[in-house]
Amino acid sequence: MTEPTTRSPGAADDASASRQHTLRERNLRLVARAIYDAAAAPGPPDLVPPSRADVATATGLTRATVSTLVDRLLAARLVTELAPVPAQRAGRPAVPLVPARRTVVGVGLEVNVDYLGVRVLDLAGDVVAERVETGSFHDSDPAAVLARLGALASDVVAGVRADGMQVAGARLALPGLVDARTGELEVAPNLGWSSLDPVPPLGLGELPVVVANEAKLAALAELAGDVPPSFLYVSGDVGIGGGIVVDGALFLAERGWNGEIGHVVVDPAGPRCTCGAHGCLEQYAGKEAILRAAGLAADAPLDSLVALLRADGGAPAGQARAAVVRAGQALGSALADFVNLTGVSTVVLGGVYTDLEEWLRPEVEAGLADRVLAAPFAPVVVRAAVAGEHAALTGGAREVLREVVADPAAWG
Ligand SMILES: [Zn+2]
Repeated sequence: MTEPTTRSPGAADDASASRQHTLRERNLRLVARAIYDAAAAPGPPDLVPPSRADVATATGLTRATVSTLVDRLLAARLVTELAPVPAQRAGRPAVPLVPARRTVVGVGLEVNVDYLGVRVLDLAGDVVAERVETGSFHDSDPAAVLARLGALASDVVAGVRADGMQVAGARLALPGLVDARTGELEVAPNLGWSSLDPVPPLGLGELPVVVANEAKLAALAELAGDVPPSFLYVSGDVGIGGGIVVDGALFLAERGWNGEIGHVVVDPAGPRCTCGAHGCLEQYAGKEAILRAAGLAADAPLDSLVALLRADGGAPAGQARAAVVRAGQALGSALADFVNLTGVSTVVLGGVYTDLEEWLRPEVEAGLADRVLAAPFAPVVVRAAVAGEHAALTGGAREVLREVVADPAAWG
């Protein structure tokens, strides 16, 4: 006689309990997603946010299940109820549900060549705290600069915690190659940094910090606007970075080392780049390259260039326009290579390019029209970014919060 091979009743109960638990967590995610998607969707300003009954309809869950799960989201401070609105049909007034304000927050951190910054966003997408300091971080000491950013961040985090907010984590944006698997910075040519783990020098203790490339986080900040689901984001600063978004998600390839459009060759016989090669796009269309070509100091404020571009005439204005035309032509040529290779048909101009868009865009569009094989059938759309200044700070904070909403059970 053989022993029965079924599991003990206790194990079966455990397995069943585990399935129930998984199902509850999945349903919690569904309910959170329904409330957050409704808040993010463009609609008329007088559109009433969804009630529990609306969430039940949207998710296919029962009203009782939704109610229990909404209570968990309220207790976790991920969702808030607004004042009841009268029901459209007979019945109790509906209570609209929206992302909570000033409860759980995400932190964006950034070191770039001429500034460092901290920005804190809440679940509703509002900036609740921000500090940006300008400086010159060319060939800087990473330990000292990261400690300075860490001190700034500690101050800001202490402030929002004192106001009763819970800090979910932080993203650190850097202008260089970050290994998406390990979080190590391999090289940031314009900072003069290489081969380091940037998190310990921040000195932020238990706060979880994930490191990412600046242009990629800035690209994610655009997703809050009305961009198509696939686009190339070009971040113009001293260096030029790129973020490739495909179907609403960042394309990272193996280690996230893609999108380095600043080092696409424009002229093999051109000037030497900080990366060691010659004639990279950055040497024509990087911020300092444009300012120098315009006859301004490399660290001059962008406003002084814009003032020259807006001037009625004169030699300085002419030189400034010529510098931006040259940058636009170089950018158009590099972008045409990218579009021919990938077929992505929308290019978003971010960083300092947002402010230079009206002068750059005609040149970029002309370059794309000339060189993109598919352009006669579907012109490439070139547009300015909408996420505002220091977009990587916004994108980083949003990424932290996206993970909170994707796993609400961790907060309940
Ligand atoms: Zn280069």
